[in-house]
Amino acid sequence: MPAFRTVRGMRDFLPQEAERMRHVEQVSRKLAQLYGYEEVITPVVELYNLLAAKSGEEIRERMYTFKDLGGRKVALRPEFTASVARLVATKMRNEPKPVKLFCVGSLYRYDEPQYGRFREFWQANYEFIGSSKPEADVEALILTKDLMDKLGLRDYWFKIGHVGILRGILSQEGVTEEQQNRIMQLLDKKLWEEALTVIRGSGASQNCLATLKKVFETKGKDFSQTLKRAEESVQDYEKAVAAVENLREILELTAESGVKLEVTIEAGFARGLEYYTGIIFETYVPEIEIALSGGGRYDKLIELFGGEPTPALGVAQGVDRIVLAMDKQRIPSKVARERRVVVIPVDEESRAKAIGLSSMLRGAGLSVEVEVMGRKVSKALSDADRKAVAHAVIVGPEELKEGKVVLRDMKKREQRVVKIKNLCEEILGSSK
Ligand code: AMP
Repeated sequence: MPAFRTVRGMRDFLPQEAERMRHVEQVSRKLAQLYGYEEVITPVVELYNLLAAKSGEEIRERMYTFKDLGGRKVALRPEFTASVARLVATKMRNEPKPVKLFCVGSLYRYDEPQYGRFREFWQANYEFIGSSKPEADVEALILTKDLMDKLGLRDYWFKIGHVGILRGILSQEGVTEEQQNRIMQLLDKKLWEEALTVIRGSGASQNCLATLKKVFETKGKDFSQTLKRAEESVQDYEKAVAAVENLREILELTAESGVKLEVTIEAGFARGLEYYTGIIFETYVPEIEIALSGGGRYDKLIELFGGEPTPALGVAQGVDRIVLAMDKQRIPSKVARERRVVVIPVDEESRAKAIGLSSMLRGAGLSVEVEVMGRKVSKALSDADRKAVAHAVIVGPEELKEGKVVLRDMKKREQRVVKIKNLCEEILGSSK
């Protein structure tokens, strides 16, 4: 039989890699608790129509779609927002607002595999439902900053825009929503010329084209100045001016709160997902060209799924890419080694006692392995060294007679005889 391999675009995570992925997940979950988000678990398989409704052409074409044995057209989820919006439009419809939901798990897109782009990837996703106020937008930004800080990432920055700028201009020009979606897709892929060709073909005025050219050039790190320039460029388009105003309010509120964000404002910024209606943002680190996280406001989606008109926004943190960024910045995982213990019986008679002691130590919250390969103490100790275990408990008949064992500090390479009844305290005390 040939050796099996993983399917293209799918990965195994070996222990060290899995540990790093789970570390990011744990920190994300802890953060959700700190901000009052409750975790929900939604299915990996959803109806195709739900997932296709507003995800945008790019994602729609790349979904893993199939008929299940009951003949339903289903797909593997390519994102979380549609599932959460479904929940809020149905089972959680009567929940008092705001509703704050967190979910984390795997997503599937038939993307071309490359650095940072996989067919199965993980997101930690935060959805904030029920508020149209800029306070909510500010929270999504601050929460994302907090996550980056908690993970130890450095020099990250936010790219920020507002879909209302481009859509405001295009809708005033009578460009249909379908054409707008197409244009946003092209801009998301940075295909400016192709986007301009579609805009020309849609019957937009010369003034519109000139305005858009200015909008695409309006970028900068100083948000007040950049938004002032953006406002001047779009002054003939009422809704676009309102979008710039909204962005200003959000960023001023952030600045006044004392939280410092490194930002680049891009007036012509577009994201592929069709459901955005307000602020959109992504985060980056200098070492990697692709975004680590992405988010934005989507005030119409819940209504589209049959719920009450409900303003909402969300942010998806890309776990895989955050791990890549941590690798590039050489940020070590903080897995506690201090609490790991190995228990080694010196002979066959001591095995049962070693097993019993390991249960006692686990009961005290220590991570314990028993020597099960029948190796001599010296061999078992060098294996413990290789695994960077903190303590070894050596169980032998001589000491057992007096209710004692040998406790070895693996790092200091020192050992002493301790009473079994004091063993937990001795280990816990020295690993503080
Ligand atoms: P999106 O859902 O497209 O807004 O993406 C949000 C975040 O999910 C991105 O910033 C990435 O970190 C992550 N992401 C999206 N697509 C992929 C992919 N194919 N592989 C790995 N991560 C991805």
